[in-house]
Amino acid sequence: MRLAHMTWPQAGEYFKKNDIILLSVGSIECHGKHLPLGTDTLIPEKLLDLIEPLTDVAIAPIIPFGACDSQTDYPGTVSLGLDTLYDVFTKLTQGYRAHGVRRFVVLNGHGGNIPVLDRVALDLQRQGCMLAEMNWWLMAWDLNPAWKGGHGGAEETAGILAVDPKLVDWDSVEDMVLKPVSDEIEAAGFKTVRYKGVEIPLVRPVTDISDNGWIGPDHPKNATVEWGTDMLDACAKYIADFMEAFRRAPLPERK
Ligand SMILES: [Zn+2]
Repeated sequence: MRLAHMTWPQAGEYFKKNDIILLSVGSIECHGKHLPLGTDTLIPEKLLDLIEPLTDVAIAPIIPFGACDSQTDYPGTVSLGLDTLYDVFTKLTQGYRAHGVRRFVVLNGHGGNIPVLDRVALDLQRQGCMLAEMNWWLMAWDLNPAWKGGHGGAEETAGILAVDPKLVDWDSVEDMVLKPVSDEIEAAGFKTVRYKGVEIPLVRPVTDISDNGWIGPDHPKNATVEWGTDMLDACAKYIADFMEAFRRAPLPERK
């Protein structure tokens, strides 16, 4: 049930009977040379299509942009930044709260959005509401450890294969080469370096870390349509199931 398809009387009926809504947010950013900029938005959009027949929770339109300031050097990548995204989420959640929503479920496609969602969740909890983050790619790791992956790696490549195999540019898949900081300090991941076996954060623009923009450990060449389909089906079923438990949970008591 898409909120954008309802008339205002239909929405009024919905909010009279329900205090839950499903929001979603993605990102438009580099995902390696082989995946589309909209990877973090396209996969949640596909998940919403899969979730819709499994639930009667109203589904709000997705916010396609997110916070990805470390990637804006790649052509086409744009970021709302943390402050603007916080303002957007605060406005939207307070708007829905005014219509009676107390339980917010947010399907999120991008790790950089998490600090904003955490902050909005705390604000809402103090107002007697709750916000649960459905970070689909992290949930997938718990549902099946074999699905664990990184940024633009096999997990996300599989997800895009489930959206549309034509969106993966197989000719552009390259091996991952992470640029070290020095002879002694090696790159370890998206935001971290490793020195004498210890991983520490040292945040750099992603173009300073990677020429092609995917950061493993899961090599994209291992992705399959079946992996993507199974993974997104499992995530959609989990989210629909979680929302039923979430709407039964007591709200935090606040004066
Ligand atoms: Zn992503």
